[in-house]
Amino acid sequence: MGAGDLSIWQEQQLARLREPFPDDVVQLKPVYVGEYDVNDEGKRFVPPSAVQLCPRCGKMHALPAKHFRYIGHALVTERLNEVDPSWSMHPMAVRDSGEPITTGGLWIRLRVCGVEKIGFGDAGGKTGPDAIKEMIGDAIRNAAMRFGCGLAMWMDDDDEVTPHPGGDGRPPFSARLGARATKAQRRLAKAIGVIHESCVYDGNDVADGILVEFGKPYYKMNEREVDDAIAFLGESFPIDAPTCDDQTPLRAGEVDVIRL
Ligand SMILES: [Zn+2]
Repeated sequence: MGAGDLSIWQEQQLARLREPFPDDVVQLKPVYVGEYDVNDEGKRFVPPSAVQLCPRCGKMHALPAKHFRYIGHALVTERLNEVDPSWSMHPMAVRDSGEPITTGGLWIRLRVCGVEKIGFGDAGGKTGPDAIKEMIGDAIRNAAMRFGCGLAMWMDDDDEVTPHPGGDGRPPFSARLGARATKAQRRLAKAIGVIHESCVYDGNDVADGILVEFGKPYYKMNEREVDDAIAFLGESFPIDAPTCDDQTPLRAGEVDVIRL
């Protein structure tokens, strides 16, 4: 076999590597794009009420969300095997013992049909042995993408946001609470959030209503003012009792125990 024959074989096989995958094997990875709540220590967290059954991917996850499309590791490996059964990958940095260096991720060289490309993989939030497996799979997928494998999918822009099914898909009311917000201010912000989630009023309008009535924003009020503001909310922004479907789970610390 001459060098020319090998080149044609390379071209053919690498073209096969670039062939788009059918839609039904493309997986969707949700990425939350909604507002975050802040806990007493000032840490951001996804509000529990954001987790809903997603109409787009059929899984339970926080909404509103965008979805990234990707091809699973197994399918990428299958494609590589079809194109060049002797494909190989080598970590770019190894310790003296031969173990790959995986600080923050894994850099590899992927060799397919005699052509080499570089790829990087991260652990995708996994830890322990699963983290290494995830890094290897991710690095192979990433390097294969440099060959054009699954590239069509990445080039299709997909900015569609799947809204939270509650109400009209509005984003949740985002409380303006700093890390130093008092318990009372958090209580008031939560009360506004509950009104917002009822979809009878918009939380931002409710916050404006408080500002107009008291001449002070809800996130700067002291405990007595918060009590007054909560009474005002009950009168000016009445909502029906929420159904259990959309309720935030009750936390033990918030339950008043009545001694008998
Ligand atoms: Zn989804």
